[in-house]
Amino acid sequence: MGFLDGIAGKVKSDIEWKAGQTITDTVVKGAGSVLNKGGSPTASNSCIKCKKAIPEPRPKFCPSCGAALIVSCKKCNAEYPAGTNFCTGCGTKL
Ligand SMILES: [Zn+2]
Ligand SMILES: [Zn+2]
Repeated sequence: MGFLDGIAGKVKSDIEWKAGQTITDTVVKGAGSVLNKGGSPTASNSCIKCKKAIPEPRPKFCPSCGAALIVSCKKCNAEYPAGTNFCTGCGTKL
């Protein structure tokens, strides 16, 4: 009896430990997403050809070198920043 109680107690403490880990992970990931919100890690704000900064609102062509900055999907006509590889609407290669 005492042996079984010991196992039950161990399992219970394992579950509590895992629950604690899950909560900690969630808090850490939540904080990370808040930190990432402000910054834009994509290079889409600079010209893919001359690397110069692109003004907002984004023009269709680079004011410095004339490179196309917008690519449109041949299938569904959705527009994406140049450098996007696939249409997220239909999966067509851009
Ligand atoms: Zn350019
Ligand atoms: Zn598409």
